[in-house]
Amino acid sequence: MGKIIAIANQKGGVAKTTTAVNLGASLSLMGQPVLLVDIDPQGNASSGVGIDKNDLDRCVYDVLINEVPPEEVIINTEIRNLDIIPATMQLAGAEVEMVSMLAREQILKRALVPLKDRYQYIIIDCPPSLGLLTLNALAAANSLLIPIQCEFYALEGVGQLMNTIQLVQKHLNPDLKIEGVLLTMFDARLNLSIQVVDEVKKVFGTKVFKNIIPRNVRLSEAPSHGLPVVVYDPKSKGSEAYRELAKEVMGIE
Ligand code: ADP
Ligand code: MG
Repeated sequence: MGKIIAIANQKGGVAKTTTAVNLGASLSLMGQPVLLVDIDPQGNASSGVGIDKNDLDRCVYDVLINEVPPEEVIINTEIRNLDIIPATMQLAGAEVEMVSMLAREQILKRALVPLKDRYQYIIIDCPPSLGLLTLNALAAANSLLIPIQCEFYALEGVGQLMNTIQLVQKHLNPDLKIEGVLLTMFDARLNLSIQVVDEVKKVFGTKVFKNIIPRNVRLSEAPSHGLPVVVYDPKSKGSEAYRELAKEVMGIE
């Protein structure tokens, strides 16, 4: 049975998408069948694995709103063992439309059930909010991975995120676990980066992943080539860090 990991933090720009794409691709290149599920209307995870969103006539919106079977929306990427349910701007309207739907927080969970046997990992890239789309991801997931950027106000909003997790555990998904807290864009030359690491470890203790993702220019270049960095430049520091994270997630450090 596959494991569903939601990548969430309502703050934008903390490396949710970068982590979804590169953790997903690292796991898939290690031989694990992976499905990425893009539920951000920006569709950055989709373009990040080479999907041309203008070419799509269906996306995750159709799975959530029109009950299209997910099998009909899945695309095999060029990367071995890596499939995706893409998102387009059409998804921007979904939250409003879902409000009146029955069991509106459980729509994604129900849609993913038939896929759990096909994939070892299903990784959901969430939008930068705690709205209905993110709630659907948290209801569907076995665990939550929280990226935190080593920057000013790193922990801003984290309290609100923890409250949301508790509410989800109470009402929607009692088994939801925290997969881990991932420190991203670490710059060893900056005192601030080092302070953030200390602060986050104080709050989350052993929940913090041992592997910290360094700031690495290759990571920011890769999306414009429609490739995960682990494919675009496998030898870069960013690639190395995400492969190590994948091993940590698999429990083979
Ligand atoms: P989110 O999905 O949380 O909004 P992204 O993954 O899109 O965040 O990352 C925000 C920006 O930071 C992107 O331009 C991305 O390429 C860049 N980025 C992410 N991680 C790193 C890193 N470790 N080093 C350098 N740039 C990064
Ligand atoms: Mg994103």
